[in-house]
Amino acid sequence: MLPVQTLSHPGHQAATSGTIKAFRVCGVPVRLHFTFILLVVFIFVSVLGSAQSSSTYAIFLLGSLVSVLLHELGHALVASRFGIRTTEIVMFPIGGLSRMDRPLPPTAEICVALAGPLVNLLLATGIFCYMISTHEAAVIKIADLLHPNNKSPLALLLFGNILLAGFNLLPAFPMDGGRILRALLSYIRPEEEATRTAAWMGRMLAISMGLYGLLSPQFMLVFFALFIYLGAAQESVAALGRSLTHGIPIRAAMITEFHTLEHHSTIRDAANLLLSTSQQDFPVIHGNQIVGLLGRNLLIRAIASDGPDAYVAGSMDRDFLALEPSADLAEVLPLMAQAGRCALVMENGQLRGLLTTDNLSEFLLLRRFGMEPVV
Ligand code: ZN
Repeated sequence: MLPVQTLSHPGHQAATSGTIKAFRVCGVPVRLHFTFILLVVFIFVSVLGSAQSSSTYAIFLLGSLVSVLLHELGHALVASRFGIRTTEIVMFPIGGLSRMDRPLPPTAEICVALAGPLVNLLLATGIFCYMISTHEAAVIKIADLLHPNNKSPLALLLFGNILLAGFNLLPAFPMDGGRILRALLSYIRPEEEATRTAAWMGRMLAISMGLYGLLSPQFMLVFFALFIYLGAAQESVAALGRSLTHGIPIRAAMITEFHTLEHHSTIRDAANLLLSTSQQDFPVIHGNQIVGLLGRNLLIRAIASDGPDAYVAGSMDRDFLALEPSADLAEVLPLMAQAGRCALVMENGQLRGLLTTDNLSEFLLLRRFGMEPVV
């Protein structure tokens, strides 16, 4: 599910916030989102409150997670055929999300999006064949698949994989079907409009699903609906941002008037600059080399831990994000998504400007009101 379009700067693969790294599969890091814990709690409560055997649940749960992971690896494998790298797979309670290292052209997006549900259909076929070979299928009627009985974890998994494939093919963001719809629409309409349509479908799907969940009542559906709504809204905002910045170089949005600190400046000097200017992030230089970046949060932490007379060199961030002034702004947007982020804009080792989330949002606002960038 959800091959989010992002581009990360080499060496600066900003991981999705709110996640912890769990393991690697085929060289792709797999991270767990903190909401994943909600799923674990939900399952735990369900097991306690149900008469079903916990071993059936355990097998089904494990099988489902493996199915979701294989679905994501399907996306990653096909993406790699198009020369696109998957930077991470994030596991959410309602499924996975594969982040690619750059935006996908429409044809690649269709193939990559189809690969996930295809994996689930193959898994379902495999399970079905296995059940036939062991005669288990003979005792499971179609009705049991629609209302899976609790006796066979394999039947539950078969049903689960068909559901995963079907659900992901719904033509609405952030489902894979929404990506296919967007890619198909983008052949005939501008990308932003195609994304808006797919995202609108996602919101409509979420609202209908949420209402049905509330009325039936099935609260798991409401929970799913919330995630779909948030995913669709996020995608809309990202698409708008992309369309407002596409083809514009970073130099058009960067801050060109700023203060720097020397590596032997003290935390007191930095605090004085923080108070006397509106700047929050200070590049640290040594001779004519940029050696680090001291942001507001690091500065406050340094005052508390090291005191005002310590050198900034001891507290600055040496692993800062550096961008080229000619790079496409649309491609660095995902890197700047983290609040309070600051990147240094550098050309041939020389500092040309700063790019912060604050000036980037001002730039987006001005673009939205039709202001043309000065390139
Ligand atoms: Zn998918």
